[in-house]
Amino acid sequence: MMKLLLNIILILLLMPINAFADGHLTSPSTREMDRVNWMEFQEWIPSKINTVLLPTGTLEPHGVANNGADNTAPFAISTTIAKRTNAMVAPTLAYGMTGSLAAYPGAFRMSAGVYKPFIKEILQGLVKNKFRNIIIINGHGGEQTAILKEVAAGVANEHGVRTLVINWWSFAADITQQVFNENGGHAAWNENAFIQAIDPSLIQQDRYSDDLATPFPQNGSWSATPFPSSIGLYQEGEGYIKFDQQKADEYYKKVTDKIAAFIIEIRAKWNKAGL
Ligand SMILES: [Zn+2]
Repeated sequence: MMKLLLNIILILLLMPINAFADGHLTSPSTREMDRVNWMEFQEWIPSKINTVLLPTGTLEPHGVANNGADNTAPFAISTTIAKRTNAMVAPTLAYGMTGSLAAYPGAFRMSAGVYKPFIKEILQGLVKNKFRNIIIINGHGGEQTAILKEVAAGVANEHGVRTLVINWWSFAADITQQVFNENGGHAAWNENAFIQAIDPSLIQQDRYSDDLATPFPQNGSWSATPFPSSIGLYQEGEGYIKFDQQKADEYYKKVTDKIAAFIIEIRAKWNKAGL
């Protein structure tokens, strides 16, 4: 009986600490680094929050969605999961390494020579601000993914912090199949749905037709620059947009749930390993 009582007291004593560590008990007034002031930042980081989410994207055409879709998606993911992962959200790096779509109106292309040192200094700035877990939520593919991987690994090894890069659309490939019953693509049904879930006003459905899409070349059989369509299909005959709000909302929820759970899992494993 005495032992049981002691156990209960012990559990009660430990509970607020655990709840705190999970970020469920309290939160700062905002999770966004460009909305918080320095005094509040100091109160929370690193003693109560030591994880930061950094959204990275680019400006490039996305069919009937906004040119900034690769920024819209990772920023929305980050703000959606910030509380449950007990993280802050760094300002989005909205200029990126647009590749074969760089010629389209409104697109921007940063070269590797500029992007690589720039993203490295951003990560080092997050280290200087005492974040121990630096999670890049990336919205844009191509060369940018390789550079993010390399730079994030370098910063982790140089500074003794933990870094993780998540390319959301690849990470969500199984959920794309599950929700839409087919493969997706660039600015195809999956990515368009993700943006539709975040802000339907960014989608101009009346401009859409299936011939805005081209299947990506299989097995290096051809290449074209600029790519002839801003909608690229991973698989021929799959990924054409159907504008189903319910599926869009389901997709958004499942993808963000998966990303949040993964971050929590990786961080717990880092902690357990004492890294
Ligand atoms: Zn995109």
